[in-house]
Amino acid sequence: MQAVSISVNPCLNEILEFPQRNEYNKTMGQIKILDRNMVNMIAAGEVIERPASVVKELMENSIDAGATEINVHIEDGGRKLIRVVDNGCGMDDEDLALAFEPHATSKLKTSADLLNISTMGFRGEALASVAAVAKVTIISRCPDLLQAGRIEIDCGSRDDVRPCSADTGTTVEVRNLFYKMPARKKFLRTANTEMTHIIEQFTRIALAHTDICMTLFHNDRELYRLPGGWGARRRIGNLFSADLAQSLLELQSTERNLKLSALLCRSESGRANARFQYFFLNGRFIRDKFLSHAVREAYRGLIEPDKYPMVFLFLQMPPQNFDVNVHPTKIEVRFDDSNLVYSQILALVREKLLSIDLDIQAKLPKTDQISISQESQETKQQITSAMAEFFSQNRQGTAPQRHFDFSKVAKKSDSAAVEQRDRFYDESALQTAPVPQYLQIHDSYIISQTEDGFLIIDQHALHERIIYEDLCRRLASDSGAKLQSQKLLIPESFELTDAGAQILEANKDLLERLGIELEPFGPGIWAVQSFPSLLSGVKPVEFLIDLLDVLADSVGKIDSERLLHKVLDLAACKAAVKAGQKLNHAEISELLSDKNAIQRVSRCPHGRPTAIKFSLAELEKQFKRT
Ligand code: ADP
Ligand code: MG
Repeated sequence: MQAVSISVNPCLNEILEFPQRNEYNKTMGQIKILDRNMVNMIAAGEVIERPASVVKELMENSIDAGATEINVHIEDGGRKLIRVVDNGCGMDDEDLALAFEPHATSKLKTSADLLNISTMGFRGEALASVAAVAKVTIISRCPDLLQAGRIEIDCGSRDDVRPCSADTGTTVEVRNLFYKMPARKKFLRTANTEMTHIIEQFTRIALAHTDICMTLFHNDRELYRLPGGWGARRRIGNLFSADLAQSLLELQSTERNLKLSALLCRSESGRANARFQYFFLNGRFIRDKFLSHAVREAYRGLIEPDKYPMVFLFLQMPPQNFDVNVHPTKIEVRFDDSNLVYSQILALVREKLLSIDLDIQAKLPKTDQISISQESQETKQQITSAMAEFFSQNRQGTAPQRHFDFSKVAKKSDSAAVEQRDRFYDESALQTAPVPQYLQIHDSYIISQTEDGFLIIDQHALHERIIYEDLCRRLASDSGAKLQSQKLLIPESFELTDAGAQILEANKDLLERLGIELEPFGPGIWAVQSFPSLLSGVKPVEFLIDLLDVLADSVGKIDSERLLHKVLDLAACKAAVKAGQKLNHAEISELLSDKNAIQRVSRCPHGRPTAIKFSLAELEKQFKRT
């Protein structure tokens, strides 16, 4: 038989005075029921890890009490004092005497309530746990009573409720946390560190309850004063920064049982870690690996690979569709249909990100502050002179590059298909928008005039992105979707080691989805029989050799969905026009039209920008025209 299995928390050894390992035998067979205070201390170990946990539990109680104002005062990182003052419904003397009893709750009446939880707390263990490990005073008054009651509990032993005078609401003071438990106290960090944890808990609760006014003080210094009723964006502004709040994209949706309201960062405001991803379910902060994954997937290719987007996702779902009763602090939940939640969030966020123009805003340095490397200086000069020429021709209205005569272009083109395509662009452009104005420079970049400035587009990055999105879209319709493929007239053979053949065999399904058909062609030789039509410009054997590298690198490291996207990255990169490749007008026109009309995209699948936007205003400032 295992000795007591609660030794998860090292500090509990001290509380319970467990015997040393070699003494177990002597104490075996003497099962004792722990007294109530000990049970509370053990429960406290689960719920109350550090001062921040106390702050969380007390603030949640205030929210459940219907408070519209919550003030939090901390001293010495919470080790000396945590005081939470609310203007909620309060407790009468009878409730006050009961509130500290284990499993004392006013929030669950019947077992059916457990399936329909709408309050923050429901287990009735927070106050009992806190009072088991600190000196606690509560003063509380109900609005309809003239007098308040006050009760003190010192590590589980309590006084009677005494009358006192106080405002409506409840004040809970927690002093000297863990003072009778040196081992637990030892686990507390510096006041600053504990304060960081408290601020994080405060932030989570503040974001989830924007209607409530909240303040946070540390050693009498005001850290936050948050007015209520201004919504999530304003609160993010108060808690983080006004600039960030202003730049966030907003998403609202109600679909089936899921109501989502989200604020999403633009691709350039990615962070180095995932700390700034806040997920809330029915007003409760949660951590959920499905949701994090969905967000990561939604930003795939739109943000640099080592960056994490800042997101604030507020989900509302009927309580019957998930279970909050799976984690002691309720930070994790179990969705009945996590796959559905995953795909809904992924689709909504991705759609939002792709629907807006995410082109990176170029901020030109002040002329007297320009400092760039020699190499990029040269490129920049070349770009600038090309631009100057472009715009001067433009101003005079004589630029051959400016007014593209599509019919002429089409006549010059040798292919009938191109001719037809150009006519289409010509006509659609004339009907809907002014004729696009663009210019290719260094056979690598396209400068395109916009309404209020111009874009510099990386032709390879943009094309890669367009192909990648197209491939994703074709494969996303259902998990069995395949790319259309073409039989090669003459199968292309290549050498393959046994190890390579094994890798291909292991990834049979993936190859099938891509529309790649391979067959053994002799000892150590294989042949490509079919290849995806969309990758018609790609040399099949070259692609397969690179594909084998990707597959070999990924074995056991990433799941099949990520692997698929990695392979699509590779395919898009191979199929895209290259830097240094001269494009004709028709090709440029198609690229720009895909950019604008089909996908508004600002990053290549690898997260590099595809276009940088310059405003005329910036330019005029540089040329001292304003
Ligand atoms: P739970 O929140 O899970 O019910 P707690 O131990 O946190 O358990 O609180 C026990 C009970 O004490 C609550 O159900 C509530 O009735 C009462 N209570 C606690 N804090 C407050 C408060 N700030 N205002 C009013 N009532 C409170
Ligand atoms: Mg509670």
